[in-house]
This record gives sequence, C-alpha cells and structure tokens, in this order.
Amino acid sequence: MDKAVTDIARGWAETRERVAQACAKARRPSDSVLLLAVSKLKPAEDVRSAYEAGARAFGENYAQELRNKAEVLADLADLRWHAIGPLQINKAKYVAKSAFAFHALDWVDVAEELSRRRTLPPLECYLEVNLAGEESKGGVAPAQLEGLLQDVRRLPNLKVVGLMGLPPLGPDAEASRPYFRELAGLAKSVGVSGLSMGTTADFDVAIEEGATVVRVGTAIFGER
Ligand SMILES: *Cc1c(COP(=O)(O)O)cnc(C)c1O
Repeated sequence: MDKAVTDIARGWAETRERVAQACAKARRPSDSVLLLAVSKLKPAEDVRSAYEAGARAFGENYAQELRNKAEVLADLADLRWHAIGPLQINKAKYVAKSAFAFHALDWVDVAEELSRRRTLPPLECYLEVNLAGEESKGGVAPAQLEGLLQDVRRLPNLKVVGLMGLPPLGPDAEASRPYFRELAGLAKSVGVSGLSMGTTADFDVAIEEGATVVRVGTAIFGER
C-alpha cells in the first residue's frame, strides 16, 4: 500500500471518530449525521482509497470534475456524488446526470435547468443561504428563502431536503456557532429537516447545532 492510501484511510477513520464524539456530546445517534467526503481537486484514486476505507458519499465543487470522476469511478455502484459548489446553468446537465444531491441551490433558473435535465430519481437539493451577507459567497438572503423554496417545490424532478450554509471564516469553530444556529432556525421556520453545515474547521460545532450533513475535505484527504 502506498502512503497516500494509508493516510486517507486514517483521515477517514479519525474524522468518523470525531463525528461520533460530537454526536455523543450532543446526545444524537451517530447515524443521524452523514459524513460527506469532499474530494474536490483530489485525484480519482484518492476517492477510491476513501471508498475502500468505507466512505460512500463524496462532495465535489466543480461540475466537470464531478462528471469526469463519476465516469472513471463508475464501477463503484453505491458511491453517491454530492455537488456542493456554485453551478452555472450551462453545466447543470453534468450535475443532473451524475449527482445524487446538490447543496448550493440559490437561483431558480439553475433549478429549472436541473429539473429539465434530470431523470429519476429526483435530485435531492439543499437551498443555500448566505448567512452573513458576504458578496464573495453564493446563497440567498434569509428574506428570499421562502420565495425560492416555493419556486423550487413546483419543479417535478427536484426534491428539497434542507438548507446549506457556509459561515464566514472565523478565528475558531465557536465563531461559526451563531450562524449554524441561525440556519437551523431558518430550516425550522420553512419546514425542512436537512442541514448541510460544518467543514473541517467547525463540523463538531455544526453537529451540536443540528447538522445532518457535514462536508469535510482537508481532515480526510489532506491540504489541497
Ligand atoms: C471545500 C469545501 C468544503 C470542505 O472544506 P474543508 O475545509 O476542506 O473541510 C466544504 N464545503 C464547501 C462548500 C466547500 O467548497
């Protein structure tokens, strides 16, 4: 076994353990959180190594990279791809074809294109909320969430399952807590149960605040 393979297996096992500890601390069952292995900018062999270590759900930011990896790794039949990055309309077809879920839905035009291109089963979608009004990030303002939700719910081949948020980079994990709490409150107020929140820097706190999916890259695959 070459070194990268054992490093990834260890990264996966240690991250799983951290998820389990955060769940225990929050008195939640450890299977109430999906650990999404974010493999963006890492080669397909790294995805295969994580798969062999037990990972089944992978997150990718770039639609063409997702499509390419899905092709190369098509033999891994129970692997599920989650598109987690901003998506341009002209690339929606790749996500519609290859992904199980999309976490960065913030625009009805993209939603319509995804629905048009999707065949069964419906694409699971998280609506992205821009929690701190950051111009550099995607997501709708909290005040626009209800309107987007109503528009997306009309589309036949999408299924809204929750909200996604990416707090501003803070000095520590605790700095993310108020944003996670706000996202959880918004999800409750619009009546969705999924919460995609928390990365390597802050996923323990996200789990305490109710995350159902954590998106973790660096802790599993190393620095990009
Ligand atoms: C890259 C990325 C992650 C993973 O970040 P790490 O710090 O490597 O854990 C999670 N979510 C989104 C939207 C990302 O782009």
